[in-house]
Parts: sequence; structure tokens; C-alpha cells
Amino acid sequence: MTEPERNRRLVVLAGPTAVGKGSVAADIRAHHPEVWISVSATTRRPRPGELNGVHYWFVSDEEFDRMVEEDDLLEWAVVHGQNRYGTPRQPVDLALASGQPALLEIDLQGARQVRQTMPEALFVFLEPPSWEELVRRLVGRGTEDEAERERRLATAREELAAQPEFDVSIVNREVHAAAEELVALMEQGLDE
Ligand code: 5GP
Repeated sequence: MTEPERNRRLVVLAGPTAVGKGSVAADIRAHHPEVWISVSATTRRPRPGELNGVHYWFVSDEEFDRMVEEDDLLEWAVVHGQNRYGTPRQPVDLALASGQPALLEIDLQGARQVRQTMPEALFVFLEPPSWEELVRRLVGRGTEDEAERERRLATAREELAAQPEFDVSIVNREVHAAAEELVALMEQGLDE
């Protein structure tokens, strides 16, 4: 069976918790204004320095319910069993219609949903350099108790097992290099 033609204009970046997806997306935001990056809606509260409409659309539970009911979200998920996160559909459609390369940085559950509705997108898995390094990034701060640590490691094992579902993997040894690799993938074939 031949691989379906991938639309490199829409790239979905996912990977295990703490692998550094957010940092890679931030690096692309800083260096590649030609790449459109989706701004997700979330019910979590902003962290210091996070701006509404830049890092996320910070919405109430009621507002999120409304977006789900009205089918405004391309995908959504409860992440870490806590808050809801989702990709507003219309801005993605507009970016793609205008021919801009578009990037979604979302969790695995969200990536699986996009796979159902937009299978032609390019699905990229961000990989840690090694299991030990992922453990270091996950539990590095050492502020969690043993049960929490075990829970995070179990989740990470499951998340890593999803890698074969993806079209391409990028190893996040260094954030800027991984970001450049991703942008190069997005730009490949666009002018053909
Ligand atoms: P944080 O709260 O640290 O910014 O993000 C937590 C997690 O939510 C990250 O793994 C991130 O990829 C995921 N996430 C952010 N936006 C979305 C979204 O729109 N949909 C889904 N499914 N996950 C998201």
C-alpha cells in the first residue's frame, strides 16, 4: 500500500509530556513568522507572563462548553486529568485557505482526533534523546512525591509507545535545532 499524500501545510506536533513541545513551538514563533501557530483555548488559569490570545485563549468552563456544543473546536481533550484544551477550528481553516503553513502543538489524544478528521496532515512526534533524559525532564524539579513520580513515569511510557502512529519523529536534543528541523519539514515540497 502506498503512503497517502501528506499535506505538509498542516503539521501536528505531539509527543510525551515534558519532551519540550511548547519550547519548540515558542522557538518557531520567535524565528519563523511565516509559520502560523494555532492558539488553543484552555480552561486552565494563565501562568505569570502568559497573554490571552498569544499563548492561549483563556476561557471559562461555560465558554468551553459552548465551543464544544457549537462544534467550534477541531479537537479537544482533558490534559493531565485536569483542564480542557482545544484547537479553534476556524483560524486553522483560514490559515490553510490562505496557503500559510500551519502548526498545531497538542497532546496525543488531540493528535489522534485530528488524524480522524484531517488524515492528510503531517503528524510529527517529538522524541526525547533517551528515556533517562525524559525522566530527568519529567521529575527534574523533585517537588513531587513518590506516587506522583510513578504516575508521571507510567504516563510517559504509554505516550512513548504512540510513536509508531506518527509519520515522522524529531529528536529534541536541542530546542532550536529541533524547531529548524520541523520548519524544514513543513517547507519541503510546498513549492513543488
Ligand atoms: P500547558 O498547560 O503546560 O501549557 O500544556 C499542557 C499540555 O496541553 C501540553 O501537552 C500541550 O501539548 C497540550 N495542549 C495545548 N493546547 C492543546 C490543544 O489545543 N489540544 C490538545 N489536545 N492539547 C493541547
